[in-house]
Amino acid sequence: MNPNKIPMLSKSKYLAGLQCPLRLWHQCYNLHLASPVSPAQQALFDTGHEVGKLATQLYSNGILVETDPFRHEQAIGKTLKAMQDPLVKAIFEASFSHDAVRVKVDILERSGGGKWNLIEVKSSTSVKNEYLPDVGVQYLVLKGSGLEVDRVTLLHLNNQYVYDGNELDLNQLFTASDLTQETLACQGEIAVKLGEFKGILGNPDPPEITPSRHCFHPFECEFLEHCSQVLPEHWIVALAGIGRSKLDELTAIGVLDIRDIPQAFSLTEIQERIKRCVQYNMEYVSGDLRDELEAVEYPIHFLDFETLGLAIPRYVGTRPYQSVPFQWSDHVLHEDGRVEGLEYLCEEDKDPKEEFARTLLDALGPKGSIITYTTYEEGIIKGLAEELPQYREPLLATLGRVKDLHEIIRKHYYHPEFHGSFSLKAVVPALLPEMDYANLIVQEGQQAGLEYLRVIDPSTPANEREKIREALLAYCGHDTLVMIKIREKLLSRC
Ligand code: SF4
Repeated sequence: MNPNKIPMLSKSKYLAGLQCPLRLWHQCYNLHLASPVSPAQQALFDTGHEVGKLATQLYSNGILVETDPFRHEQAIGKTLKAMQDPLVKAIFEASFSHDAVRVKVDILERSGGGKWNLIEVKSSTSVKNEYLPDVGVQYLVLKGSGLEVDRVTLLHLNNQYVYDGNELDLNQLFTASDLTQETLACQGEIAVKLGEFKGILGNPDPPEITPSRHCFHPFECEFLEHCSQVLPEHWIVALAGIGRSKLDELTAIGVLDIRDIPQAFSLTEIQERIKRCVQYNMEYVSGDLRDELEAVEYPIHFLDFETLGLAIPRYVGTRPYQSVPFQWSDHVLHEDGRVEGLEYLCEEDKDPKEEFARTLLDALGPKGSIITYTTYEEGIIKGLAEELPQYREPLLATLGRVKDLHEIIRKHYYHPEFHGSFSLKAVVPALLPEMDYANLIVQEGQQAGLEYLRVIDPSTPANEREKIREALLAYCGHDTLVMIKIREKLLSRC
């Protein structure tokens, strides 16, 4: 690495540096160490692009600066040309660079008196802390490039907007928050940080950083798998609910392994339990576990839903990111030990809620306990009851039959291989390694939502649609079958 030739910074590299100097270093020099982008992350990027593109429709007489992503100089040239044309009122993806920092501005809007408005588009439904340094860097580069910036605005989705089934009302779908004053106030700090980051990148050695809470906030770092190689198997981050200050305290005294936590260090009840299980390599089984698992009425319905949470609402009466259920699985355990598998998957591009609720009520019938994993399903049932008055009463009646297996495990059982998590993805490998999700095509909820969109897309070839349909049914059915097996396994431990 030549210290006189350090890589250009960008707003994403600036944000990486704020999270962790080592992340910035790896992004510039060791990108090959990053984990591949997961389908869920890719879906987030795609949503961001879709929302960004939609927001440009709010600005008339705008043009997009289209260039190869690696030809930044060419993009700057096109931007300057567009700025000189008074008929162009807005420039999308406007590119600039100043003092070795390059940025692309989502929307640069012509304001009065030769000034410009900087507009950043986000697919979230609120202003988050990390957005300020993002627009702050853009402002600094624009000012350095000689632009007079009138206003800095963050355009994000409005979660109160309800789609009426006609053309999207973009003025209602988007909310603008003025960040001009906050952006001005953070300019000095950003300039100092940029100087620090250039210093770090000019150093021949990577910064020495111990992984901790910061690896997960505000984003899970793409180098976590790489950095974790030097971490103990029972890293202190696996203490459920541990906060930043306690992690920092432990890291400061050189403790990374749960087994090395000093006796006198204050932990919550559940963290103490995890520590004991790890230290003695043993399970924890509460004296009440059997009673909790047996407090059920047959037939026992093991229930799981899959939902879509689209940033841009698709169905009448829904809001951005509203969860729309499209699939359920119900594995029914009868008193004689018989297991019956029931399922529903909407296969047409239509609002699935009515059919979902009707078929679900048929399957659940009037009696028997309903076991879910977390309270997510209860929330969906309540939402359906509000939206579908014809099913309100029977839907609400099912709620009195629901028991949450996740909560039972959280209170009454622990296995060192849970690594601090009580999610099915953590519990199944520890208790039922033979039923690991790794063998399934669809392996997690967000991926299920994406695949569902392909099922209802008429351009998806029929044979592919059939394969996805089977994969979705296998995934949701797996979730409910493992719940039966987990309950059996836990009963055998009591
Ligand atoms: S995993 Fe953590 S320590 Fe490693 S680069 Fe990322 S944020 Fe930094």
